[in-house]
Amino acid sequence: MLFDLLERLSSLNRVWFRQHPLLLELQPIQLSALVYLARCNRYSNTPLAVTDYLGLTKGTVSQSLKALEAKGLIVKTQSTRDKRSVHLELSEPARALVAAVIPPAFLADAAARMGAAADELERLLGDLLRNVQRHENVPGFGLCNTCGYHQIVEGEAFCGLTREPLGPAEVELICWEHQHGEEPEVSE
Ligand code: SF4
Repeated sequence: MLFDLLERLSSLNRVWFRQHPLLLELQPIQLSALVYLARCNRYSNTPLAVTDYLGLTKGTVSQSLKALEAKGLIVKTQSTRDKRSVHLELSEPARALVAAVIPPAFLADAAARMGAAADELERLLGDLLRNVQRHENVPGFGLCNTCGYHQIVEGEAFCGLTREPLGPAEVELICWEHQHGEEPEVSE
């Protein structure tokens, strides 16, 4: 059953986390926040977006972000658009930590052994996620280059929602405002 498989893999992920020598000082939620912040775009690195992405309470996420800041792993900057809003950036040590531990070695090794089947599995899991996002009332985070607002204007990537140009690296990042637009319906 799909649920059992996802649950089992999640348990293995928890075992991996608990045993990793570089992660002894972190809580699982703190690593999840760091991984998200390493992969999200400039519209999505706010405390509210982290809370929405992780699906946890505001208080829990706020405590975790404070702990990450105290450890020197994230840096807060004030938004240039809205002085009441803050953005969260990973410090250099945090970037190095995320690069060293993600993806978990046990998962990367298994995918390498599976070869092309692992690519197909990744595609199918992506379909599963998009299917849930389209049909359930859940946050719609997704990759910028698959968004309905994503446009090419004069040869450059452009966001139709914020009306701002997007850099080449930004189109590969996760966005809080992502909308499934022109993508084909997933067959069920
Ligand atoms: S095109 Fe979509 S995903 Fe990309 S920045 Fe704009 S709203 Fe976000």
